[in-house]
Amino acid sequence: MITIEQAYKIVLQDVKSLETEKVSFTDSLGRILAEDVKSDIEMPPFDKSAMDGYACRKEDLGNPLEIIEVIPAGKTPEKIIGKNQCANIMTGAPIPEGADTVVQVELTEVAGNSVKVLEAPKKSNISYRAEDVEVGTKVLSKGIKIEAQHIAVFAAVGYTDVLVYRKPKIGIISTGDELVEPQNKPALSQIRNSNGYQLIAQVKACGAIANYIGIADDTPEDTFDKVSKALNENDIVLLTGGVSMGSFDFVPQVLEQAGVKIEFDAIAVKPGKPTTFGKADDKYCFGLPGNPVSSFMQFDLLVKPLIYHLMGQEYEPLDIRMPMGVEYKRRNADRRAYFPVIIRDGEIFPVDYHGSAHIHALSSAHGIASIEIGKGEIKKGEMIHVRQI
Ligand code: AMP
Ligand code: MG
Repeated sequence: MITIEQAYKIVLQDVKSLETEKVSFTDSLGRILAEDVKSDIEMPPFDKSAMDGYACRKEDLGNPLEIIEVIPAGKTPEKIIGKNQCANIMTGAPIPEGADTVVQVELTEVAGNSVKVLEAPKKSNISYRAEDVEVGTKVLSKGIKIEAQHIAVFAAVGYTDVLVYRKPKIGIISTGDELVEPQNKPALSQIRNSNGYQLIAQVKACGAIANYIGIADDTPEDTFDKVSKALNENDIVLLTGGVSMGSFDFVPQVLEQAGVKIEFDAIAVKPGKPTTFGKADDKYCFGLPGNPVSSFMQFDLLVKPLIYHLMGQEYEPLDIRMPMGVEYKRRNADRRAYFPVIIRDGEIFPVDYHGSAHIHALSSAHGIASIEIGKGEIKKGEMIHVRQI
């Protein structure tokens, strides 16, 4: 059986990013930037005041200053500041010629047309032209996931047509005769299809397109029909269930029938051991375990990085290191185990978790911790890694 690290390498081997397309910067949130962005202007574009106050000459700070002009933001100053003169200036307004200092309002006393400086400012309070960015400076790098603060940069440098990678299309199939859709009340021996909807949401959270195909019966025929359709229309196909050792677990067999070359069908990991992965030309296919917690974790560990690589990003989950708040023990250490945890007062605590069907254990978790193969316990206070989910 391969390790999760080997499985990760196999999944990401030779992955090429999808084609690029242009979208308006206002629609680019969550997409992956496909080129470096350079500024077409200097920032700030002129010397501007960082404070509301009085622009004057530093050498005159000890004298009463005559106010010769008011400069709101957006106005070009008309006068030159001479000896013992100042302009009442607002934040963001251009510094008038002759001035080298802005005294903030709080440090002044005004009487009629004259300003007295009560205390000299500690710095010039001027943001100088091009001190942040010069023309041609790279302001954003190819491969970032676009967030609100990047959209501000697009706006500031006039980059309104954003080059991004196409969103991968992900086909989702739940398998199992016992499944009913969530709006139906399960009869005895039935359960609701929670995986399908969890996967749709996980796919959307990555910024990809989720195509829900539906529930496949536990027959090779129905599974084959749905897999063939899904492979035709998508970049990645995800199935859940039907990958264990039961008499009605047909997924690996059907994938091969549909032309998928299976790369692995078991990983030394808990939960998620029977996770299956294969490729058909440029399409990728995962048979994820049926249990919702296993499906969630294997998506996070393997599918999510693949989706991001297709979108042109080297995916790195946020990983933090903190001490365990309690001792953690296990009897069998032959697989790497992942367990949901919460972070409280700077320490990590496993959430009460009865196994891979315990769906709401995940709901309260802040992240997933893991214990490596061969390790039976984590001591209280031992530093461990938590992967943010
Ligand atoms: P399987 O691998 O098909 O044997 O499924 C393993 C377990 O996961 C069984 O208890 C299934 O009932 C359950 N399961 C399978 N698919 C789903 C699903 N879509 N939603 C919730 N539970 C599921
Ligand atoms: Mg099943």
